[in-house]
Amino acid sequence: MKTCHRVFGYALAGLVLLSSSATAQNHTVIDAGHLLDVVNGRILDNQQILVTDGHIAEVGPRVTTPQGAHRIDLSGSYVMPGLIDAHTHLALQEMDGSDINDHGSYYYASLIEDTSMRVAQGTMLARAMLEAGFVWVRDTGNNGLYGDVTLRRAIEGGWIPGPNMVTAGRMIAPFGGQFQMNPEKPALGEPEYFYADSHEEIIRAVRENVHYGATFVKLIIDNQPYIYSEEDVRVAVEEAHDMGVKVMAHATSDEGIRNAVLGGVDSIEHGFDPSDATLQLMADRGTYLVGTDFPASRLGETRYWSNVERNKRAYATGVPMAFGSDVVYYEEGKTRGEQTIGFLFSYVDAELPNAHILRMATMHAADLLGANSGRIEAGRNADIVAMPANPLDDISALYGVSFVMKDGRVYKEGGQFRWDIPTKLNNPRRKQPRGNMLKQH
Ligand SMILES: [Zn+2]
Repeated sequence: MKTCHRVFGYALAGLVLLSSSATAQNHTVIDAGHLLDVVNGRILDNQQILVTDGHIAEVGPRVTTPQGAHRIDLSGSYVMPGLIDAHTHLALQEMDGSDINDHGSYYYASLIEDTSMRVAQGTMLARAMLEAGFVWVRDTGNNGLYGDVTLRRAIEGGWIPGPNMVTAGRMIAPFGGQFQMNPEKPALGEPEYFYADSHEEIIRAVRENVHYGATFVKLIIDNQPYIYSEEDVRVAVEEAHDMGVKVMAHATSDEGIRNAVLGGVDSIEHGFDPSDATLQLMADRGTYLVGTDFPASRLGETRYWSNVERNKRAYATGVPMAFGSDVVYYEEGKTRGEQTIGFLFSYVDAELPNAHILRMATMHAADLLGANSGRIEAGRNADIVAMPANPLDDISALYGVSFVMKDGRVYKEGGQFRWDIPTKLNNPRRKQPRGNMLKQH
């Protein structure tokens, strides 16, 4: 009987071997003329990258070249990790260009358009981001009823082209969310916002959100006269972290930022007015700042330069910083991806080193998202972009991204975007199994 089992075991092992050797590995060798090492902020000339089955297998002056490997010639280009935007709204676009301080167009976009229309719009914006070189985004709410989860699943299934996504689902907020409500229509802010005031409601909101596909929880801390306390935040963070889900906090005031940091969130979104003591607290605790710096043309000079000053203070204090744009509006003549690159220049104005700005939009954002991306090194996902000019010399070089590879697949080459309707589809899941979300994607 024992022997019988053993023979059966060998037979199974044989089958496994046969089937794995029958599935040939997919190899690509990239000749990278100038490889940007973002970790050390330097250029390494004449490098090669071996990509095997969607992952980087080897990097160096000369890598193993397996037989039949596909070759990509980027010998005249600057090659770097794919870009990451840690604060997007792919299913929100204000169309009338009204002033940001008058939330008119924002109300309009979120109240008048339904989720399906916004997802249709999101498919265009997702492609625009990928085409500009963004391989990952963290989408931070304002997507109607889980429009971001729908987009993420469609991209994961290969149905539409777009960056990989981390999704916040509905934003959890004290009553009213970010709206000024009308007492005759108290539910106007829903489903955009998930109202949760008591600790029981906060726990319920975190659970329901994750159940329906949030892979990162977003709290709105201080948009109302009543704000989430440190204890309120801690209740949400403990519930989310227990499931392996990180938490971000929309917070703009010093008190709001402080409550969120002390409550244990993973990142502060916007963070416009932190005191020096609060920035020090963020540095000590390793809480990321995702600055979302709108350009002066949109924000006005005063607010813009105040943000620039905040960026200088955060950098000098050693606060972990990840790039996040918060582009939500339409600008004639620009794609969403081009607009997003424009949001990097507040860091140039803050005189941060270009190497640090590029780290914010690659490795630091990847670490915050929990994405196995943002660096060109063995074991990482093959998320790679290239351009003709050197972004270490001038951040504007990023406008010229002419090559985009995501998970080993080429989406743009020679400046041309390419995407074919797939004949092999995946079945994308709404949610992930417990405990998997803090592991790298
Ligand atoms: Zn936002």
